[in-house]
Amino acid sequence: MVKEINKGLKLKILPNGSMVEVLEQNMGNARFIWNNLLGMYFNLYLLFNFHGYPLYPNIRNFNAMLKMLKQENAFLYEGESTSQQQVFRDLNKAFTKFFKEGAGYPRFKSKKNPKQSFRIQKNGNNIRITNRRIRLAKLGYVHYRTSTEYKKLLKTSKINNVTIKRENGKYYAIVNITTTVEELEKTGKSIGIDLGLKNLATLSNGQEITNLDLKREDKMIQKYQKKLSRQKYMSKNYQKTLKKYYKWTNRKNNKIQNAYHQLSKYLITQYDIIAMENLNIKGMFKNKKWAPKLQKISLYKLLNMIKYKAEWYGKTFIQVNRFYPSTKTCNTCGYKNKNITLKTRQWTCPICKTKHHRDINAAKNILNESIKQNNLIKKRIKI
Ligand SMILES: [Zn+2]
Repeated sequence: MVKEINKGLKLKILPNGSMVEVLEQNMGNARFIWNNLLGMYFNLYLLFNFHGYPLYPNIRNFNAMLKMLKQENAFLYEGESTSQQQVFRDLNKAFTKFFKEGAGYPRFKSKKNPKQSFRIQKNGNNIRITNRRIRLAKLGYVHYRTSTEYKKLLKTSKINNVTIKRENGKYYAIVNITTTVEELEKTGKSIGIDLGLKNLATLSNGQEITNLDLKREDKMIQKYQKKLSRQKYMSKNYQKTLKKYYKWTNRKNNKIQNAYHQLSKYLITQYDIIAMENLNIKGMFKNKKWAPKLQKISLYKLLNMIKYKAEWYGKTFIQVNRFYPSTKTCNTCGYKNKNITLKTRQWTCPICKTKHHRDINAAKNILNESIKQNNLIKKRIKI
């Protein structure tokens, strides 16, 4: 079966000096609008609330606030307008996440953040992509580099929007397109996955996927971080060090990204049903021992990749309620062992005497529980 999907293609762009200025200006505008609307909303909320009226964060209210902001700050009229409207749409989404999904309250954006961006919505002819250049209305042309596969996709697909991003000193255009994918063949196999810290992933069939070795990258990143903290901000030497620092952060991110793509593609190809636990990242961060390792592996990214690829390729992705004690339950008889701590790697069930490897047992439980919770298959799957 062929399916229509939205996909972001990340292209490296090569802006010249004056284009860099234009892009930076628009990123600055996006940040300025975000921060001002966020502050404005809070003050207006208090004012309205004082008079007994609720002021909801929604597109209409933010649009009105943007108009007010533009009247006070004429320079905003020179910027790209669809990207300015995009800011309050993103802000609105952040508020929805805060109210409905329990995410944190939207935060102010800092100029010093190495990631900056703005998004342009396709509107008539405002975005055009040729073989070598992207033309953005009001901003001009910029050269890009990408694979022949992506070039072909850009030619044949519908373009929805373009996000311009500065990440660790480099510029990218993420082109969101609508394209089609062919569903993958069914294999009739299911798998439970326990994401972790010691191993990146442990599968219910006993397979262990080790974590990436990022020691060298981390060492270099730390080295340049220390050096940066001793140098004068934005001096010549500081900028030289910053380049090296970015080179290593990029190298690390690419390594992680590639590994995640490989692993998710492998799982989607091999299995029809993939079960995982909801990640309790906040809880994990409370544990000081886990925190630095966790930052290294950004498990959310991997989880999301598996999730969207399953959807694209016609496979089933199931998340198990995280309150289910997958580590402490014996997958053979269901006995709950309260004595399992973070340090327990192996244990024997006192009831049925089964010998357990901590993470493999957890992965098996995740698979079984997902089947129960979702009532997908009536009988237990034998692994
Ligand atoms: Zn047992």
